[in-house]
Amino acid sequence: MARLTQADLNELNQSFEQDSPADLLRWVKEMFGDRAAMLSAMQRAGCVVCHMIGRERLGMPILFVDTGVNFQETLDTRDRVAKEYGLNVITLSPLKTMEEQTKELGILYLTPEGQKQCCSLRKIEPLLQAKGRYDCLVGSLRRAEGGRRGTIPIVSIDVQMNCVRVNPLANFTDEDLDAYLAEHDVIVNPLHSQGYTTIGCNRCTTPVLPNEPKRAGRWRHLGMWSAYCEINPSDRAGGLVKSIDLSQDLVDRLLGRKTDYAI
Ligand code: SF4
Repeated sequence: MARLTQADLNELNQSFEQDSPADLLRWVKEMFGDRAAMLSAMQRAGCVVCHMIGRERLGMPILFVDTGVNFQETLDTRDRVAKEYGLNVITLSPLKTMEEQTKELGILYLTPEGQKQCCSLRKIEPLLQAKGRYDCLVGSLRRAEGGRRGTIPIVSIDVQMNCVRVNPLANFTDEDLDAYLAEHDVIVNPLHSQGYTTIGCNRCTTPVLPNEPKRAGRWRHLGMWSAYCEINPSDRAGGLVKSIDLSQDLVDRLLGRKTDYAI
């Protein structure tokens, strides 16, 4: 095994800045083969990446975390994307139903501390079931979303999943996104047209007013301190630190080098 840090990826990230999302997705397939998957919550940008994966015939599976309290519209969007884009969507679920969890621990999502525990049990732990199966997870985060996503790298490391994360839409502007959605008539969660700018669990998501920040509808009942579930490591406070361990061959190919030592 070989160690890979975020700093190791600087040069690669710079070389990717002018590449299109489709170029980046093809690179992911070439580099990681069947050890790459996409992670999507079936929001607009995620559906765009799903459409690109289908259009490029990359045969890349899509991971979807079903918290058990998703909106029916989100589940319907997942099913349409799988069927109409010919994608293998793998649904990951928490160990306990929301009812079982509530009986045991109470209604967690009503407090900031409880929300972290609930998101960990219902989002992060299901994703961890796939740990070790993939060396790369593709996402759909964009710098144009602002906040903690304003400076996300295209390629980053995920210490918890011990894999590389690639966000091919990092440079996609709001206008780029709208143009792609319109040009390709991409399947879109109908809740977006009902004022939901971002969509998570039905317990913790509301529509937003036109003059509110886009993420104002997430955990609105908790205030501004709970604006992310942290299933995406770049959303975690403290940023991208530490390192991951991948095979020596993969790290050499990623960095375009041949090493003859181990640290
Ligand atoms: S978004 Fe709300 S209901 Fe969903 S996992 Fe997080 S705290 Fe629980």
